[in-house]
Amino acid sequence: MFDLELTEEQRLLEQSVREWAGREVAPRIRELDREHRFDPAILTQMADLGLLGMCVPREYGGAGMDYLSYGLACEETEYVDTSLRVILSVHLALNSLTVLTWGTEDQKRRYLVPQAQGRKIASYGLTEPGAGSDVRGMQSVAVRRGDRYVLTGEKMWISLADVADHFLVFAYSDLEKKQKRDVSGISAFLVERSFPGFSSGTLTEKWGILAGNTGYFKMDEVEVPEENMLGREGEGFKIAMFALDQGRLSVSAGATGLIRACRDASVAYARDRKTFGVPIGQHQLVKEMIAQMESDYQAARLLWMRSAWLKNEGRRSTRETGLAKWFATVASERAAGDAVQIHGANGYSDEYPVGRFYRNCKGAVIYEGTREIHKIMQADYALGYRVDKPTRCRLPAYREAVQA
Ligand SMILES: Cc1cc2nc3c(=O)[nH]c(=O)nc-3n(C[C@H](O)[C@H](O)[C@H](O)COP(=O)(O)OP(=O)(O)OC[C@H]3O[C@@H](n4cnc5c(N)ncnc54)[C@H](O)[C@@H]3O)c2cc1C
Repeated sequence: MFDLELTEEQRLLEQSVREWAGREVAPRIRELDREHRFDPAILTQMADLGLLGMCVPREYGGAGMDYLSYGLACEETEYVDTSLRVILSVHLALNSLTVLTWGTEDQKRRYLVPQAQGRKIASYGLTEPGAGSDVRGMQSVAVRRGDRYVLTGEKMWISLADVADHFLVFAYSDLEKKQKRDVSGISAFLVERSFPGFSSGTLTEKWGILAGNTGYFKMDEVEVPEENMLGREGEGFKIAMFALDQGRLSVSAGATGLIRACRDASVAYARDRKTFGVPIGQHQLVKEMIAQMESDYQAARLLWMRSAWLKNEGRRSTRETGLAKWFATVASERAAGDAVQIHGANGYSDEYPVGRFYRNCKGAVIYEGTREIHKIMQADYALGYRVDKPTRCRLPAYREAVQA
């Protein structure tokens, strides 16, 4: 049964993440953002809180929490700053939950366990300079040589590129299929930063999520042992999409937190700021913007919670999670724009947080499926052009995960 009442454990988790982010990060975020500075101490604190492996089973070093708890952590972290939630999305959803689902026992021991314990940080490399939404256009290749694959290529717009130890990387291992742009020629690999030929850098011209790390990495004939192929040869595209299915839950919950942050900042300002002799909150047009934020927040929260519930039940939720991600991110863009508007000229200054919200919200309308890609997906589901088929591996239901 879809129950909206949080358990005691979920409530405590929500409260502890809220307190930690409010105490340790909120007072410093303006400075970190202004200096474009990623603070590794935040990662250490997140690891100490158990957040980096929160919904990985205890057997693999995680905290064994459910996916709704994960969403709550994403909502609370993005309430303070998007850069915090991005860590949870990339490290935990895009990488760790994918290794949990598709990995061999050996891969889980070598990669998942240190990641869940927060001893190693993980990232996800799908996008390339010439291939984002159109994954078929990727140029990275993996050529078999004896018992290894030799990877060559460049990945771009990679979160935590200069921070992560481990990367889940996608490349064409079938060059004939690459010529035909056939995604069944793509395979997935677990690549370590320490492998010779791997190099990375940070994108310095980015204008949002400035306290986060986003960059690129290059693979110049990186030799990857065959036992580091995730899934079977040719399953890379399915694995990449599976990972996004988990990441989109975190993005939708995070964007929901951002809408709430916009609402709270706007309410405080609208009560305080006076024009024409009354607080601006008494003007109907300002009320309209706040009412929209409130309804968007409540609707976005219901959508991500439904997605988390389906995942807890072990049911495929690609359609529902995609809808939650699309709705929440577009709504967060609307909320951030209106929050700036309510603040007037003050909203146009980084003296107030809403300018940062406005810059940060846009990323999520682009990554993990752009607004347009999600529109097409949802229309195709409605029209019956798109039907999800079962995959060989599925995310373990919460009960299975905790029992493992
Ligand atoms: C802050 C940030 C962090 C990121 N982190 C990661 C990461 O960790 N790992 C990773 O692999 N990638 C990451 N990305 C990359 C992101 O996933 C891509 O930017 C995204 O997939 C879009 O690809 P693109 O930028 O190449 O845009 P394009 O695919 O070139 O699209 C450009 C425009 O055309 C539209 N468009 C494209 N195709 C269609 C179509 N068929 N119909 C209608 N419109 C269309 C798009 O919606 C968009 O508006 C990140 C991006 C950002 C901004």
